[in-house]
Amino acid sequence: MAQILDGLKISGEIKLEIKTEVEKIIASGKRPPHLAAILVGENGASKAYVNSKVKDCAELGFKSSLIKFPETASETELLEKIGELNRNPEIDGFIVQLPLPKQIDQEKIIMAIDPKKDVDGFHPENFGKMALEMEAFLPATPFGILTLLERYHISTEGKHCVVIGRSRIVGKPMSILMSRKGFPGNSTVTLTHSHTEHLEKYTQDADIVITALGNPYFLKGEMIKTGAVVIDVGISRVADDSEKGYRLAGDVDFESCAEKASWITPVPGGVGPMTRAMLMKNTLLAYHSEKR
Ligand code: NAD
Repeated sequence: MAQILDGLKISGEIKLEIKTEVEKIIASGKRPPHLAAILVGENGASKAYVNSKVKDCAELGFKSSLIKFPETASETELLEKIGELNRNPEIDGFIVQLPLPKQIDQEKIIMAIDPKKDVDGFHPENFGKMALEMEAFLPATPFGILTLLERYHISTEGKHCVVIGRSRIVGKPMSILMSRKGFPGNSTVTLTHSHTEHLEKYTQDADIVITALGNPYFLKGEMIKTGAVVIDVGISRVADDSEKGYRLAGDVDFESCAEKASWITPVPGGVGPMTRAMLMKNTLLAYHSEKR
């Protein structure tokens, strides 16, 4: 039976480390780190994500600014605001919550963010630096997974790591990070996606499987080998009889995989809280990089 990679516990430790550092910063008479978030429109999930980021800031002693635009906002308006945030020395980092409404070109928006303030790590400059093993902001979810592997001393060197999903924010950067030099890293990586044939051929050979596809209970026990480490990034809503009418489901069929795996992340309580903690960590890094 697998042991749990407890993202709630480790994210709690990281948040405590950050909070302690912020308390010291404030005690020394300096201003706290400041994260800004731009939210466009009324997307329920986006609102919930941004609100949780604002809450995390308050909990850790950061200053936060939430900048809201209506669904009809223009690209120009958004670019102007990004320019302001780029120039504002009191703001260490900011995020633009995705997805954006159709009239706004997401690429243009990401490109407009000053890479030094790009705490989501989405700007191509940060992505390129990450790939080249230079110092960069790492996207929060892959950063969270690396940290989880690190804190549990999960061996990655020479291991076969199979990543399912090639999104810009999770799968693709994750595959690069696992193949980089050092720990966690030095893995032999297979990046799989919706066009991969006979996926189980790869997952059955994997020492580490990272699922980021958004397909509830996709990875079954019969698809992994005994002793594999299973990291579940997926978060989907699955209808049920509860009061809320749904529950959160990962990409992993936890029951059958936990029987064979050596380590496994739960959903909720695995990668999700790590992602939140790492955005705060990136903001603190941004604060220090400019300092002052
Ligand atoms: P996405 O939706 O942008 O892309 C999904 C990827 O999965 C694609 O590359 C696609 O090729 C691949 N895919 C789809 N079906 C497949 C199949 N049958 N076999 C193999 N590959 C397949 O992905 P995303 O934005 O990375 O999100 C993935 C999931 O992770 C979602 O459930 C999302 O909610 C969740 N997520 C969680 C966190 C977190 O903090 N836990 C963060 C980001 C995303």
